[in-house]
Amino acid sequence: MLEIAVEKSAVMETGELVFEDQTRRILPYVLKEINELSVLHLNGGPPQEYRSAAPRSSGTIKFLLCVCTNRLKDRTGTSNPGFAGRRDCILASDWCKFQRIMHLRRLILALTALSFTGQNARSQEATPRLVLLLTVDQGRGDYLERFQPSFEGGFKMLLDGGVLFTDAHHFHASTVTAAGHASLSTGRYPAHSGMVGNEWYDRTDGKHVYCVEDGTTQILTPAGAKPRSGGGRSPARLLTTGLGDWIQANDPDSKVFSIGAKDRSAVLMGGQNAHGAFWFDTRSGQWVTSTHYAAEYSAWVREFHRERFADDYFGHSWTPLAVPHALLGEMEIVGTPDFTHTLGRADFYPTRRFYSALYNSPFIEPYLLDFAKKLVVAHELGADESVDVLALSFASVDTVGHTYGPNSPEVLDTMLRLDRELGELFDFLDERIGLANVAISLSADHGVASLPEYQSSHSLPGGFLSAADYACFQSAGRAFQEKFGKDDWFHEGLYFNDETLKRRDVERSSLESMIVKELARCPSIQRVWTRTEIESASAGGWLDKTLELYVHSFHPERSPDLYVQYKEGIIGRVRGTTHGSPYRYDTHVMALVHWPGARQGTVDERVNTVDLPVTIASLLGIDFPDDVDGVDRSALIRD
Ligand SMILES: [Zn+2]
Repeated sequence: MLEIAVEKSAVMETGELVFEDQTRRILPYVLKEINELSVLHLNGGPPQEYRSAAPRSSGTIKFLLCVCTNRLKDRTGTSNPGFAGRRDCILASDWCKFQRIMHLRRLILALTALSFTGQNARSQEATPRLVLLLTVDQGRGDYLERFQPSFEGGFKMLLDGGVLFTDAHHFHASTVTAAGHASLSTGRYPAHSGMVGNEWYDRTDGKHVYCVEDGTTQILTPAGAKPRSGGGRSPARLLTTGLGDWIQANDPDSKVFSIGAKDRSAVLMGGQNAHGAFWFDTRSGQWVTSTHYAAEYSAWVREFHRERFADDYFGHSWTPLAVPHALLGEMEIVGTPDFTHTLGRADFYPTRRFYSALYNSPFIEPYLLDFAKKLVVAHELGADESVDVLALSFASVDTVGHTYGPNSPEVLDTMLRLDRELGELFDFLDERIGLANVAISLSADHGVASLPEYQSSHSLPGGFLSAADYACFQSAGRAFQEKFGKDDWFHEGLYFNDETLKRRDVERSSLESMIVKELARCPSIQRVWTRTEIESASAGGWLDKTLELYVHSFHPERSPDLYVQYKEGIIGRVRGTTHGSPYRYDTHVMALVHWPGARQGTVDERVNTVDLPVTIASLLGIDFPDDVDGVDRSALIRD
């Protein structure tokens, strides 16, 4: 039961609303400007609306207060009749219980003050009509500067006109796709966004989960494709709002869309309440979405699906663009760009194998951008004064980078192709909206380690895990088993089974210290971090710099009880390279903001990726939640 009392006299006299909240389990948002005050009063049934005339004598207060107490659908898939179909209600998710009523009051007061004094001043500011959030998956911090000599398209335009942050880092240890995109979207560390990894064992659900899976939704099947079983995708496991939500809260006419080859990138960059998120489906070769976003595909998407544009890439081979050989050394490229990679195998027509190869190639990006341009036209992004958001996540630098490494001609070529394709996108937006009305941010979800071959030839530490490591892990496990006995000590990985600990009456700390001691002998292990030390560090006090990264990655219901940190440069796979460590090569990412009317230049000061959405909100002049981890860096960008 939720009671909201509105003291009308206070509204009349001062523009202030007083709320009494008995449950503190609400998610308030000011969503829509109207000419009278409207409050949804909820007590478990359908909402009732109370309207009162606006207090004309002291100015016009224009807002609609919308309060949701439940998800549109609960976990069993049952619709809440009070909100079904209400596009102006934002979904309440688990995080709302942490919100404070004072935040609502502050928001109301700020907007009320704005309606009296700020509107004229704000409308004269040059506010962009489209915010383009670009993320390059595995876009390591050195790529923009290192490959700059051969850029001539979109990256060149961004570098020539934007502010480049040369020392931008993810401030968490779990440097993987979901954690990175969530940080860039929400301004919170994984500890607070809940995106501790791409997948995890969820203690609340008692099962292994994928970060954006949602059994209450389904993937929408494109026409002509086989329906797939299993659940869909949604931001249900993202515990916070993101930049797109803040922009919509500021202006309900703002539209938010997100596209990325990876479902997790597309979903997480869209925030809680995106109008659409699309990702690549390797079964059908199409851009798909889930029932979280729409009940069916709109006409323009159906038309796009009908054309089966992915099949246009069938039979193509990947050969590199021409690059002056004199530049290769300067760009630290090993070998010469002289390769031919076919997409797929001995197939006569496009199969799932071909679509997977397309997903793992640079050709996924022009396909994505064709879809994005159609979306911009169909939804008229940037067409009016409301700020729209388009998030585009480019996966190919990651898929190519894992195989060939950051010093390969293949990664260089993938970046160069993206440079040219972004140039075409910017030309398209310039013609349609005018680039003076488009703000662009560019960053990445994580970096990557060099290939072990490169490390050894450049006297860098590193290498693959060795047979000696495998033997060491297993002998540590045997020692554990001999000391504590055979039992179901773990749910999976390094997640303790608390029931076993309780049944056997064993202290967590004694298990932790034994495992730490045993694994410390392994040649490739730098350190093992325990839940006990991470939680006690979270409580305050001095923090080891690396421990701080683990604290920012740690969520008590989702994180393992032990984190194994390998030595610098150690690759935990058998070929290629990867990321996921707290080392600089994984935390250091590209970061750039190209803002209309703002300055151009380079900032060498250390910034964190969580600062980016907060800074964009600040540049837009909109409110962001009090509990973000990021810092407003707009002063570094404003002229
Ligand atoms: Zn990756």
